[in-house]
Amino acid sequence: MTIFKSIAIAIASALVAGTAATAQEKFITIGTGGQTGVYFVVGQSICRLVNRDSATTGLKCTAPSTGGSIANINAIKAGDMDMGVAQSDWQFHAYNGSSQFEGDKFDKERAVFSVHSEPFTVIARADAGINSFDDLKGKRVNVGNPGSGQLATMEVVLAAKGWSMADFALASELKPAEQAAALGDNKVDAIIYTVGHPNGSIQEAVSTVDAKLVNVEGEAIDKLVADNPFYAYSTIPGGMYKGTDSEVKTFGVKATFVTSSDVDDDVVYEVVKAVFDNFDRFKKLHPAFENLTEEEMIKDGLSAPLHDGAVKYYKERGWME
Ligand code: GLU
Repeated sequence: MTIFKSIAIAIASALVAGTAATAQEKFITIGTGGQTGVYFVVGQSICRLVNRDSATTGLKCTAPSTGGSIANINAIKAGDMDMGVAQSDWQFHAYNGSSQFEGDKFDKERAVFSVHSEPFTVIARADAGINSFDDLKGKRVNVGNPGSGQLATMEVVLAAKGWSMADFALASELKPAEQAAALGDNKVDAIIYTVGHPNGSIQEAVSTVDAKLVNVEGEAIDKLVADNPFYAYSTIPGGMYKGTDSEVKTFGVKATFVTSSDVDDDVVYEVVKAVFDNFDRFKKLHPAFENLTEEEMIKDGLSAPLHDGAVKYYKERGWME
């Protein structure tokens, strides 16, 4: 064979391989949350790991900022997004057609894994005279943007306490990216955020104004935790943020990763593989991921059935029968 002929064959086979790879190219979108929250980092981190293998898997992953849990679940249900991060309470309600999802059951919802814990967090200006959740009555409170998990969970808490939005002097619905500035500019007295710690939004808030995290306790919270499998008591360690030196007591949920049974098994398998084959690397991508364990992630906070693609990987690893 002449040198030219072998070069020609090499080029031809490269072209064939190139065409084959292009044919399999598949774009996937992961729903996250506000850019200063932790969901955004979850989505960006998963995509970063998935995209490292694009040449072999054909998967190209993007994780845009979104409104949060409820927006993500609705986008997955509508087929506009493939996967997303959602609080364990809203994963449960979507699958069961309860609470905000009454009459709007998402039977095809599938769990993939859970991630970090998300305490229901109240951050108040130090000068606002707020020392517990009950002190929020009559105050200006940012309750969360529409589509967020925090707004939806806040509504549950208000109902449990027999309160309504009218009990606040103002109930604003600013996004996480805007809420820290609103607290700093004295437009609100407090912020409600169900989120992993530490996070950029609260760090930004406490660096611009004297503010502190306050406890969320009492009978109504005890009843929520007793009655619902997806709620648990939760604490935020003291010293995590400037102005909050002692441990804060509240309740919380898990951040979870969800999808739909309409998403191909191969796609979910590759995404799960990208995360768990590179688990040490993943855990270093945000301090809220530091203490994650595989055992807890494939079990805790999951109420929808696991997606078949995820089950395939967990069985291969010997984590499931
Ligand atoms: N838990 C919030 C939600 O469901 C998002 C928190 C975050 O972005 O980290 O909307």
